[in-house]
Amino acid sequence: MNLVEFESVTKRYRLGEVEVTALDSVDFAVRKGDFVAITGPSGSGKTTMLNLVGCLDSPTSGEIRISGQPVSGLEDRALDQLRSRSFGIIFQNFNLVPVLTALENVMLPLYLHRQPRAEMRRRAAAALASVGLTRFADFRPDQLSGGQRQRVAVARALVTEPKLILADEPTASLDTASALSLVELMKQLNTERQVTFVFSTHDQRLLQHVSRVVELRDGQLSSGKAPRAEEAGATIPLTSDSEVA
Ligand code: ADP
Ligand code: MG
Repeated sequence: MNLVEFESVTKRYRLGEVEVTALDSVDFAVRKGDFVAITGPSGSGKTTMLNLVGCLDSPTSGEIRISGQPVSGLEDRALDQLRSRSFGIIFQNFNLVPVLTALENVMLPLYLHRQPRAEMRRRAAAALASVGLTRFADFRPDQLSGGQRQRVAVARALVTEPKLILADEPTASLDTASALSLVELMKQLNTERQVTFVFSTHDQRLLQHVSRVVELRDGQLSSGKAPRAEEAGATIPLTSDSEVA
């Protein structure tokens, strides 16, 4: 069964008199074990699409199903439960709490799952280990590099063992080496532990590590296979932000 299904999903925003179609009749599906990059220039609808996948927003028309269940009929409480059970989210700017240690930051989502504190610590430590940060468990965010902070954010997204991890331009605040290393980590979690990822990026260099790329252009989706490593940078039909300016 598909984890996520979009059927002719349209999202419009109204700004005063003006209506913006951010997503236009998008069909899309995510299966367990997928590693999907959503790409496209700034303003093409990537954030809108990820917010809809994560049930943080609702479509203007069309249907979204999570694990086969239509989202539209759900009450707020059921929706909150679905969200906290199904998704882990990695933010572009990490969104770590500055006064908490790495371990405490990773424990945060578990408070919603109501577990004994010792169990929360054990699970958070395991998640930190899986991103290679055991040694830094007691460090606060300002004592970590950007790459390490984003790894803490990955551990925090993993800790509830969600069905799907969503990340909106997770490498945007990172230098190239840290960005590549983050994508390699995500890929490793995907192949070794079948963690499903859907993330957005407009960085061409990252796309060669991705098995499936979908491209948004003015809110419309076209699917493509990821470029093979040796072809990357040559003839990939993707738009970079520099062309948009
Ligand atoms: P991307 O993440 O690819 O840059 P977005 O999903 O943020 O694209 O935006 C897609 C389109 O929808 C843009 O034209 C943007 O201006 C518009 N948009 C996004 N969010 C809102 C909002 N809350 N209100 C009005 N327009 C919005
Ligand atoms: Mg965006």
